[in-house]
Parts: sequence; structure tokens; C-alpha cells
Amino acid sequence: MSRGKLVVYTGYSGVGKGTIMKRLRELDDSVKLSVSCTTRQPREGETNGVEYYFVSKDVFEDLIKQDGFLEYASYCDNYYGTPEKAVDEMLANGYNVFLEIEVQGGMQVMKKRPDCVSIFIAPPSFEELERRLRERGTEDEETIQKRLSAAEEERKYQQYYTHTVLNDEVDRAANEILSIIHNK
Ligand code: 5GP
Repeated sequence: MSRGKLVVYTGYSGVGKGTIMKRLRELDDSVKLSVSCTTRQPREGETNGVEYYFVSKDVFEDLIKQDGFLEYASYCDNYYGTPEKAVDEMLANGYNVFLEIEVQGGMQVMKKRPDCVSIFIAPPSFEELERRLRERGTEDEETIQKRLSAAEEERKYQQYYTHTVLNDEVDRAANEILSIIHNK
């Protein structure tokens, strides 16, 4: 069995990464999403071990010391990190493994694993991004503002990604991503 591809999959908070990801998994059994660790609080409806492993700051810092992360970053006052072992197991089993991570982590992975595929999901516009973030209704105003300024910062890193995919329409974006990972 050939080794799967490692995909750095980045986009601003609210851009619709999660929705595209869901579609990708419905369309293609080879697509697996790596489950990250985070110190942020679960949102309503999130389950430990599904969207994230929700851990304390102490546990996260222990994992850093044990070199358990392929990458990790601090984003809007919380830690987020990719457990390395699980990713390598899935790659060895032939799965295409998506890391849904922000730019600092994305840059670390591109450096450590130069054979990865990097994809940046872009919103049709920043106004549209703000609208989507508010529509989701899962964050308070302060958090929305933090995430919008994080997006301004993240925009500077888009140039380091090999591919930019516009999220104008979920199915179209998902199919474009599948063409990229299958080199079609
Ligand atoms: P959220 O709190 O909305 O779930 O995620 C906030 C940001 O952290 C998103 O851009 C998400 O892609 C990113 N993120 C999630 N998991 C990881 C991770 O393991 N590492 C890094 N560097 N970023 C992550």
C-alpha cells in the first residue's frame, strides 16, 4: 500500500473549512482528519476525541515536553497541536491525512515535512468572512474581533501555501481539493 499524503489545510476562522472537510470525507474514503489537542473550552455539541482532545494547559505542556506534537501553536489565548504518532499511523495505512491548522502550525509542518501538500482556503471577501463568523453564533463579540484580527495576520502567510482554494461553493471547493490531492 502506498503511503498517503499529508495535507496542511488552513483557512481563517469562519471561512467554512469544517463544512468543506465534511464534504471531502463524504466524497472520498481516503480522506482522514487528524484530531488535534486544544486547551480551549468545547463548544456546544463538541465531543472530546471527535472534534478535538480537550486537555488542560498542564497536560498540553507535558505533551510538548515529551515531543508528542508534529506541530503546535498558540492561537487566540489557547494552545492547539497535532499529535504526531496518530498522523504517521494513518499515512502508513495509505490515508490522505488533513491537518486543519492555523498558519504558524502550517509553516512548521511545511518545514518538517517538505513533501506535504499545502492548501489555503480563501473567503470570497473579508466582509463575507465577518458575516459567516457572526452567523455561526458560537462566539461572543470579543472572540469574533480577535478572530478577525487573527485573520488579517494569517493573510500574510497565504503566499507560502502551494494552493489557494476559494470557498465560493462547498461542492466546487471540495472537488478542487480532491483534484489537487489526487494530482488530477
Ligand atoms: P477553533 O477554535 O475555531 O476550533 O480553531 C481555531 C484555529 O486553530 C483554526 O484556525 C484551526 O484550524 C486551528 N487549529 C486547530 N487545530 C490545530 C492544531 O492542531 N494546530 C494548529 N497549529 N492549529 C490548529
